[in-house]
Amino acid sequence: MIEIVLATANPHKVDEMRAIFSILTPRATLVGLSDCAGSPFPEPVETGSTFEQNSAIKARAYAIATNRLCLADDSGLEIDALGGRPGVISSHYCTDGREAGMTRPERDAANNTRVLRELEGVAPERRTARFVCVLTLSSAQGSTLAQVRGNFEGRIGLPPEVPRGQDGFGYDPLFLAAPSFTRTSAELSADEKNRISHRRSAAEQMAAIVRKM
Ligand code: IMP
Repeated sequence: MIEIVLATANPHKVDEMRAIFSILTPRATLVGLSDCAGSPFPEPVETGSTFEQNSAIKARAYAIATNRLCLADDSGLEIDALGGRPGVISSHYCTDGREAGMTRPERDAANNTRVLRELEGVAPERRTARFVCVLTLSSAQGSTLAQVRGNFEGRIGLPPEVPRGQDGFGYDPLFLAAPSFTRTSAELSADEKNRISHRRSAAEQMAAIVRKM
């Protein structure tokens, strides 16, 4: 059995990834950062300009800190009409990527307002977007062993059809999921979203790699 540290402080992500991994590869158990000796660990600064770079920075930093095999994710939203923004600054888009002491719900609302304002006048078929999740597996010494990207395709809805839906978080109330574009990802149940999400796709690819290790 391989033990892999999942480098996230978000307990929802640990549960979600554990569930996916246990189905896909009985060879690996995921353990949370808080279960590792020496926890809590300092958070690495995400200086990269791509999801790939930031995911690798986190995987390497936590692998070295824990001296264990480590899996880290980086995720966000890419909107084609905005040249791929908000991208790596998705969680703090409203403040151009700066931490400004806002709560997560405050940030989510302000991020969504900014995205809708920037897309004003853009026709529905040009509002294509995707959620992205990049997972990196690092050796205990900090070298990248594998990296995968999962996408979840959709479109940013046109007000007043969005924001809509009570589930999910972040940009979910704006994101009309492909291929039907009839429901936002905030209107999908957790199970439905987990079957088609960017995290699911990335986790499946990574689990297939781990199975062969
Ligand atoms: P993180 O992986 O928690 O740092 O997520 C980065 C940011 O991307 C989040 O704060 C959200 O704004 C956005 N994001 C990532 N995944 C999702 C999702 O599944 N739904 C909505 N927003 C998401």
